[in-house]
Amino acid sequence: MQDMKRRDFMRLLGATGAVSGLTVMGIPTSVLAKASGKVIVVGGGFGGATCAQYLKRWGPDLDVTLIEKDAKYVTCPFSNIVIGGEMSLDQITHSYDGMKARGIKVITDEVTGVDAGAKKVSLKGGQTMSADALVLSPGISFRYGTVENDDKVAESMPHAWKAGPQTMMLRKQIESMKDGGVVLIVPPKNPFRCPPGPYERASLIASYFTKNKPKSRIIIVDSKPKHSKQGAFHAAWKHVYGLGEGKMIQWVSGDDGGPVIKIDPSTMTVEKEFGDKYQGDVINFIPNQKANVLVEKAGLTNKDGWCDVHQNTFESKVAKGVYVLGDASVATPMPKSGHAATSQAKNCAAAIVSMMAGQSAPTPTYANTCYSLVSPDFGISVAAVYAFKDGGIKKVVGGVTPPHPKEKDRFYKNEAKYAKGWYKSITMEMFG
Ligand SMILES: Cc1cc2nc3c(=O)[nH]c(=O)nc-3n(C[C@H](O)[C@H](O)[C@H](O)COP(=O)(O)OP(=O)(O)OC[C@H]3O[C@@H](n4cnc5c(N)ncnc54)[C@H](O)[C@@H]3O)c2cc1C
Repeated sequence: MQDMKRRDFMRLLGATGAVSGLTVMGIPTSVLAKASGKVIVVGGGFGGATCAQYLKRWGPDLDVTLIEKDAKYVTCPFSNIVIGGEMSLDQITHSYDGMKARGIKVITDEVTGVDAGAKKVSLKGGQTMSADALVLSPGISFRYGTVENDDKVAESMPHAWKAGPQTMMLRKQIESMKDGGVVLIVPPKNPFRCPPGPYERASLIASYFTKNKPKSRIIIVDSKPKHSKQGAFHAAWKHVYGLGEGKMIQWVSGDDGGPVIKIDPSTMTVEKEFGDKYQGDVINFIPNQKANVLVEKAGLTNKDGWCDVHQNTFESKVAKGVYVLGDASVATPMPKSGHAATSQAKNCAAAIVSMMAGQSAPTPTYANTCYSLVSPDFGISVAAVYAFKDGGIKKVVGGVTPPHPKEKDRFYKNEAKYAKGWYKSITMEMFG
């Protein structure tokens, strides 16, 4: 980490832990335990599952219902390793049984409508339900119509930006590609889910190629002039795979030819604004993004397609008693990451439980760590701690793994180990 020593950062990170002794952010747990009321949480991913868990943990008498359309949750974190062939989809698939055992009511159904004013949801199965507080963490939808043909290619050019069948489609295409072939990765414009994700994906496909198809190449055709963890990724690529035209990984900046404006599945080409065309044997086109259509239809999004929230509680700015977490919300400067969603979820749960116990919401502190694997045993990370100040979230401290100095391989091996530990503990917290 650049700006400070890891030891100091970990100390600060510890200070963001919501619970200390018998208090939650300074409020005695005995006071919180008096909370009563009904909360419905929609979406059993990073934001929703964590929020439901902490609502029940801190407010044991609360009536907490989680509504999730799928019976099991497949994490996007570590799905790039599945695409690289080093893990199976089963290893990143989680059930809701642990949540049920804690007393959370889990309903497997799709929410088809939200009446934000009445805090009411309608389900595909025909039920309607209302609550004292509604938490929505439904993730993203794609902003189709911003790149020519972007709505026609999910089957032929899998985005794999929602983990599951799409992840396996992309894996299979890469597996059956000839040695010497080219994979194009087309990352979306900002803001989008997991800013380092496309670049981790390039790394783990390169790791697979190194072992299995060494003549193959990856070209990242970007619309952006710079990308997340750029210094660390580029230094690592140079060191591990080779970077540049004709090398295993090539990154084409948005400054080089402008943004991507068209994809053509019939010729397998990607076209930039000033006419440059790139052809691939496999194309991973990741569409531009917005908040999930569920919150859009509920009237909770702003003109840019994301949900404005009060950044101390994550209550919607347009609907009282309705909270929007995770990727769907505007939590700038926090990135749209799973870790960020869990941090928001814990603070939101603390706010709801406090208010339902007759207390005011505590002042939050947030944290985010995003590990990226350059190969299964070479990791880099970005981490930050945030405070709520002057009405918004402000970064207090943080940093990125420094560009790779050759003699420090052990350091990067440890980062990969921490990444695996992070995955284990965060999924345990969500589903255990
Ligand atoms: C390739 C990739 C790698 C990533 N790696 C990392 C990483 O290493 N670290 C990290 O911190 N983050 C990572 N992320 C980002 C992370 O996955 C997201 O930021 C996180 O999932 C956001 O949480 P969320 O709760 O907003 O949405 P989600 O986790 O997507 O949860 C939304 C849930 O809502 C459900 N849902 C949606 N609509 C409805 C409806 N109408 N009715 C009922 N249920 C509904 C969905 O089925 C889903 O389960 C990665 C993302 C990608 C794509």
